[in-house]
Amino acid sequence: MLDAGSDPAPGRLVLVVEDEESVRMTLRYNLASRGYVVLEADAGPSGLELARGRNPDLVVLDLMLPGLSGEEVCRRIRAESDVPILMLTARTAESDKVRGLDLGADDYMTKPFGVQEFLARVEALLRRSQRPARRTPAATVLKVGEVMVDSDARRVMVGSSEVKMSPREFTLLFHLLGTPGRVHSRDSLLRAVWGPSFHGDSKTVAVHIRWLREKFEAFPTLPFRITTVFGVGYRVDLAPGSPLQR
Ligand code: CA
Repeated sequence: MLDAGSDPAPGRLVLVVEDEESVRMTLRYNLASRGYVVLEADAGPSGLELARGRNPDLVVLDLMLPGLSGEEVCRRIRAESDVPILMLTARTAESDKVRGLDLGADDYMTKPFGVQEFLARVEALLRRSQRPARRTPAATVLKVGEVMVDSDARRVMVGSSEVKMSPREFTLLFHLLGTPGRVHSRDSLLRAVWGPSFHGDSKTVAVHIRWLREKFEAFPTLPFRITTVFGVGYRVDLAPGSPLQR
């Protein structure tokens, strides 16, 4: 028997999106016996629907799914939510390929895997997902010139225009903008924004930086810019006369 007392979140909702019935049943059985409430989907579209409609605490997502690939489901969930995602991949070149992609998953497991390790990863992800509130800087609103970044509303405004961004992009921007002039290495950004056990590499950071820059391209008089510090990482530089206000 597993020690249910060590469970970080009894009764929390876990969505399992997996078309292999035997795998799905094994995960459901073990999650349920640990005190989780389990939702299941056997295809991409139904998985995405449940992720949106039921607001699970964690999503276990197979990569190869009928209807809509796990990759696409992951991207769509991630564009709307910070819910932890544990991606399952087959033991082939697929798993290596996936790690190089920026899917936005928080952790990856290669099938076949042991149930104990699976449960341990689920618990670790849930513990981590409870942490951001404590990590959040005291300031909830950063202002630079006409730019306002509000971490309570998760909203970025340039003048009267809202700049839409994913939760990761937002966190990355907030982290960088809150420490103007400071150089952040790619690794430190990975830890701060994606969490300490994220398995992606620094290309993930580079991709998100590029997306952030693209989103601000429409504003040529932006009072800050994200500077690449060659071989090290990134820094936010403020325009002269545009101090950071908290
Ligand atoms: Ca599959």
